[in-house]
Amino acid sequence: MDKPFASETGNSFMPLCAADLSELIALCRAEIDRHGEHLCVLDSAIGDGDHGANMRRGLEAVFAERDAIAALPMPAALERIGLVLVMNIGGAAGPLYGTLMMELGRGISDQPDTSDFAAALEQAIAAVARRGRAGPGDKTLLDVLYPVQAEVLRRSTPNHIAACARIAAHSTQAMQARRGRASFLGARSIGHEDPGASSCALLTATICGYFEEHVAS
Ligand code: ADP
Ligand code: MG
Repeated sequence: MDKPFASETGNSFMPLCAADLSELIALCRAEIDRHGEHLCVLDSAIGDGDHGANMRRGLEAVFAERDAIAALPMPAALERIGLVLVMNIGGAAGPLYGTLMMELGRGISDQPDTSDFAAALEQAIAAVARRGRAGPGDKTLLDVLYPVQAEVLRRSTPNHIAACARIAAHSTQAMQARRGRASFLGARSIGHEDPGASSCALLTATICGYFEEHVAS
């Protein structure tokens, strides 16, 4: 089967099973916990300083449910993660991360191949853009999601996707915010990394790192 994130070098990844998903949730929660302060500092510069706390709350709630979530078929598990994120992150980011995961769950089959996954991700990102009325260059988490999607389509390695996500988050520094609280600052939002882009890159890198480590050789 053509597995999600199969790389150009011929390496491929074990299909995600229940135990993997539970571990992956734990890793994401730990990463957001580790960087929570930094995300708040980023949000203090161009927002209200709560992004790290919001994300911690969301990931903590998913972590608390991880075993029940991991027991679900993959589409339902992703939808459930989305719902828990909406209910617990709050702020602007909650409905956006929630939409991403719920639409991803709705868009994939139980065992998606790479094309299915890429198509579902594209639809999910489009739903996030509609929800936020945002697009490329608006200095939001979408500025990480679009390049990640492009690399998934190209079947880049997980390590490469993670690196692109980090670069994309960093590149939001040069942008002027056109959506969300940061947009109230106008040109003064330039020179700061967008907190949502930063959390999105952290989560992308965590997920990609997990897949990279579990290369079935
Ligand atoms: P709030 O702004 O309500 O305090 P957070 O601080 O948790 O919420 O999240 C802020 C992040 O949400 C931003 O850094 C940005 O990436 C993202 N964001 C905010 N508004 C939008 C929007 N309209 N479209 C896409 N992303 C957005
Ligand atoms: Mg905030």
